[in-house]
Amino acid sequence: MATARVSFDAAVVGGGLLGTATAYHLVSAGARTLLVDRADVGRATDAGAGILSPETNSRDPEAWFRLACEAVDDYPALIDRLRGEQANDTGFAQCGKLVVAVSDDELEPFARARRIIFDRQRRRGLPKPGDLHEITAAEAGELFPPLAPVHGAIYSRTAARVDGRLLTRALRAAAEARGLVVRTGGVERLVREGDAVRGIVVDRQTVAAGAVAIAGGAWSDALGRQLGVTIPVAPQRGQILHLGLHGADTSRWPMVSAFRHQYMVAWPDSRVVAGATRETGSGFAPHTTAAGVRAVLDEALRVAPGLAGAELREIRVGLRPLTSDTLPVLGPVPGIDGLFLVTGHGPTGLTLGPYSGKVVAAQMLGRPPGTDLTPFSVARFRSSVG
Ligand SMILES: Cc1cc2nc3c(=O)[nH]c(=O)nc-3n(C[C@H](O)[C@H](O)[C@H](O)COP(=O)(O)OP(=O)(O)OC[C@H]3O[C@@H](n4cnc5c(N)ncnc54)[C@H](O)[C@@H]3O)c2cc1C
Repeated sequence: MATARVSFDAAVVGGGLLGTATAYHLVSAGARTLLVDRADVGRATDAGAGILSPETNSRDPEAWFRLACEAVDDYPALIDRLRGEQANDTGFAQCGKLVVAVSDDELEPFARARRIIFDRQRRRGLPKPGDLHEITAAEAGELFPPLAPVHGAIYSRTAARVDGRLLTRALRAAAEARGLVVRTGGVERLVREGDAVRGIVVDRQTVAAGAVAIAGGAWSDALGRQLGVTIPVAPQRGQILHLGLHGADTSRWPMVSAFRHQYMVAWPDSRVVAGATRETGSGFAPHTTAAGVRAVLDEALRVAPGLAGAELREIRVGLRPLTSDTLPVLGPVPGIDGLFLVTGHGPTGLTLGPYSGKVVAAQMLGRPPGTDLTPFSVARFRSSVG
């Protein structure tokens, strides 16, 4: 095959939400940009539930919390901008979220979550008390009718959700309108010249690029290894169920989570999405399992027995790109000029994704990211940078 020499200011490897958001911000800043996507089965973005609610999170560390709050604060402006730039919906809405304790064994984790959530609220001064507070069991049941009687409930009125597939499509449409070039295919390797990355090889064709971002989700490590950089990202399978509630008006139902790592997200089309398994060590095996589906259904019906008559409409499976310390990997690779990472977002990539893409795109263009990315540098895996 002839190798025509083509050249871009920037190339992005991976067309999930992270890569697409990065590419969108690059072209928005005027950079000639190429996005290459292999569209692997198991792409996490296609399965994601879409919960954007750091204010109800009591699991992740402070570094994540700060970044996630910045990311969620940035969402409404991005959604407004996308509305003006292209025609696709994104599914974004401030639908609210409940955190509930359903059984006795959840009382202690509920008390711990309450402490962390309200402590963070006090320190930030946000959300306002009227937007994040405890409510009674009866109030919780009114908000989400299929709910079991609960021992306690915290309500975030402004928690939001988004449809990962639709958002990625919208970002891509807006970016293509600004000149983004998209190629379907696999990036076989990165082009290294001395201590710098100067491009990529896709379908045996060399493409020169001033900066390259790896946004390959769970598949990211393969490209890093070629350069002696270990990106400790591995696939964590998630199985998630779409339940149909014929004719029910679900448009105002909030999202719900309890304390067994699962949740429910209602959508306006009489649909409740229940998920998801967190199968660490699953490998690249994006298929459903009998045990996984049973686990999700058992938990959904424990928290919301009123869903028992729902129709099982669809099962999605995604491979979350999970790092060894659960934090994302963002920013330049020390010692390799021109190479950037936007990966490892695990279970919160829809929350962080558009913002992560924005801040790394800024760095790729030689601009300050506008936030402290030190906790997310690949350099934290000290022995891994070769
Ligand atoms: C069941 C489930 C529920 C979730 N729920 C939520 C949620 O409620 N809230 C939230 O914030 N997050 C959630 N997430 C997490 C979120 O979906 C992910 O963190 C995010 O989508 C990761 O996006 P990504 O672009 O990094 O990876 P992906 O979406 O997996 O995309 C990676 C892309 O890179 C491509 N690629 C890889 N290597 C190459 C190569 N060499 N050349 C070309 N292309 C390549 C792949 O083909 C793929 O298309 C959930 C995830 C799952 C699975």
